[in-house]
Amino acid sequence: MAATVIYGKDLARELRNSLSHTLERLKGKGIVPGLTVVLVGDDPASDSYVRGKEKACLELGMVSNTLRFPESMAQDGLLELISRLNLDDSVDGILVQVPLPKHMDTDLVLRTIDPAKDVDGFHPVSIGKLLLGQETFISCTPHGVVKILEKTGMPLAGLEVVVVGRSNIVGKPMAMLLMQAPHHCTVTVCHTRTLDLKAHTLRADIVIVAAGKPRMVTADMIRPGACVIDVGVNRVPDASKASGFALVGDIDYVPIAEKASFVTPVPGGVGPMTITMLMVNTVKAACLRRGLAVEN
Ligand code: NDP
Repeated sequence: MAATVIYGKDLARELRNSLSHTLERLKGKGIVPGLTVVLVGDDPASDSYVRGKEKACLELGMVSNTLRFPESMAQDGLLELISRLNLDDSVDGILVQVPLPKHMDTDLVLRTIDPAKDVDGFHPVSIGKLLLGQETFISCTPHGVVKILEKTGMPLAGLEVVVVGRSNIVGKPMAMLLMQAPHHCTVTVCHTRTLDLKAHTLRADIVIVAAGKPRMVTADMIRPGACVIDVGVNRVPDASKASGFALVGDIDYVPIAEKASFVTPVPGGVGPMTITMLMVNTVKAACLRRGLAVEN
């Protein structure tokens, strides 16, 4: 039986509708949450993500400020800028788009952001709180995936989840979130040193793939009826497209969609949820900084 396709863009629309009510109420109090995005360099994928974030902010009537700098920007200049943004009362959320140029220390840059404005959830304080099960800014992609899993209606407690990928921005926080209350999943994290990836994915109720390898998870690696979430976004050459490339995920979508229970497409799956959770975090930052209750 064919899988139910979960379109993150539909779920994102629902969440943004509910967020817009919160924003209306904040507007009534004279508060318009503001996100500042810092983009260093001219990586086309990063530029496209940043434009998506700007668009989402503007559609919701939030303040969007994108600061663009050349690849050659000195690290000290970036650190000074972040320190200024930390002190700027009109800025609720700060997001430094990664990857940064090679001459920069990404960990240092990210931990310079005030944790109260860390809407990406990448600061060690945010990650530490997540690990401890404390209230914090949850990194946007794993948070969006959890919303997608909740949308399936599957009771998650006790299910076997295999996360393929152990990055700080997707794999690790994904595993931390799902193993904890209220989800209570049994989580296995796989990576390039995993000896038999297929043995793990085959026994999983839920497979979440965030490896950045086009179509690396194939249908023979998936148990019939499993739920498969594809986080990967890869550009592959495609002469039929005006851009010369197509976006594909990390799973071999068509055959997997024939045997899974639920599947997410690329594009239109996890991606729109990532941006939406960034909006949620920015509104949350705006509320928390003013001592207001968080609604979304
Ligand atoms: P990273 O490159 O930082 O991490 C990839 C992880 O996958 C690593 O842990 C790596 O293992 C593991 N991996 C790679 N190849 C294999 C393999 N053959 N078998 C098992 N594990 C493997 O990537 P990110 O986590 O930043 O991103 C992953 C993907 O998700 C990318 O395609 C990215 O574009 C996409 N993405 C999508 C977002 C969205 O909103 N949809 C947001 C963020 C990312 P090891 O640690 O051993 O090297």
